[in-house]
Amino acid sequence: MRVVAGRRARLLRTLMALDVLRLALGDGRGPRRAARALRRLTRLLAAVRDPDEIGRCALAGGRVYTHVHAPGWPSRAFARHLRAELAALETEAGDGGSILPTRLQSIIFAITKRCDLRCEHCCEWQQLDRPEALSAADLGRILARFRELGVTQVHFSGGEPLRRLDDLLDVARREAGAIDCWLFTSGVGLDRQTARRLRRAGVRGINLSVDHWRAAEHDAFRGVPGTFAAAMGAAEAACEAGLALCLTVCATRSFTTPENLRRYADLAGRLGAGFIQILEARAVGRYAGRDVALTAAQVAVLDTFVATMNRDARRAAAPLVVYPAGDQRRLGCVGAGRRYLYVDPDGLVHPCPFCRDAVGSALAADFPACLDALRRRGCEHPAMAPRAAVAPVTLSTLSGEGCA
Ligand code: SF4
Repeated sequence: MRVVAGRRARLLRTLMALDVLRLALGDGRGPRRAARALRRLTRLLAAVRDPDEIGRCALAGGRVYTHVHAPGWPSRAFARHLRAELAALETEAGDGGSILPTRLQSIIFAITKRCDLRCEHCCEWQQLDRPEALSAADLGRILARFRELGVTQVHFSGGEPLRRLDDLLDVARREAGAIDCWLFTSGVGLDRQTARRLRRAGVRGINLSVDHWRAAEHDAFRGVPGTFAAAMGAAEAACEAGLALCLTVCATRSFTTPENLRRYADLAGRLGAGFIQILEARAVGRYAGRDVALTAAQVAVLDTFVATMNRDARRAAAPLVVYPAGDQRRLGCVGAGRRYLYVDPDGLVHPCPFCRDAVGSALAADFPACLDALRRRGCEHPAMAPRAAVAPVTLSTLSGEGCA
């Protein structure tokens, strides 16, 4: 994957903007309605983005990515994503919880309970290696159901999704045009041939878990020797196959230091990652009942790292850094079906992988009602409460015309 900045990035973003203009003029909108929808979209992006970020894009497999949680452009999934976003912005009254219109955009879908590793932070620890509850047909039914609800991106997880490779390839083949398909993987089992098979089935990206820049620390965290080497091989295979690559790190108390973050970013750059995603350790799964939450000082270290990486023109070719918990403290919770949700390996639907509070099965006939219930209930985990010094941005804080 390659990260571009400067004139090249500006050109690509201009071409994307022209395509967005074309999409806004479609769907029976006249020029006035299109202009209004685009104004709202522009205000939304201005409020959500860091104004000091240098404009960069990551390129892989003939597509342009500006964020790891949005479909690549150009693609059918991107067009569906933009159309749905514009339609939501035209009608959304806003609930005061987040600036983002309520629209189920993506899901994290745990398709298996199988895994060979024993990671210290595993969210599915209590489920690992139990008998599978979902058949291959169930996987297809669930994803088709979410596609019909407007989902444009899926992150397959587990367990280790590569332990169910044939079913994964089948479901990706069926949905990959309409939905951008990504994997959360440890990289174990992701050799060159598997990467090529994934790419041919339509999978677009890999969220590769790398939890330290030092092999020994990563292997100790993952509970099995040799997993760092496997992850390094997987990164190479993914890039060769034209898959987008994001390195995802679990930021624990011991990891979260400026030195570790700097070295981690160097490693991600060397591996050809377009993105780094930082997930904070949370007291669920194997960490349940433990005091693993980062301190305010460590959250500040992460904020500084993200700003430095994304604003510094001298790092123009470095991976783009995404920090969902930081965004959540600023913008409000976007889980619980507002923008995304989590489907566990039993098919049960939760607000997110960290907040377990199932509302029902994704296979249930009354699932749309469950989704409404999930959204009404919401999910404001105390650890994600906005910091006192930073007022959360909401729809009502948008200047000028509201979104009603
Ligand atoms: S975190 Fe993922 S890779 Fe690690 S044990 Fe759990 S399912 Fe397996």
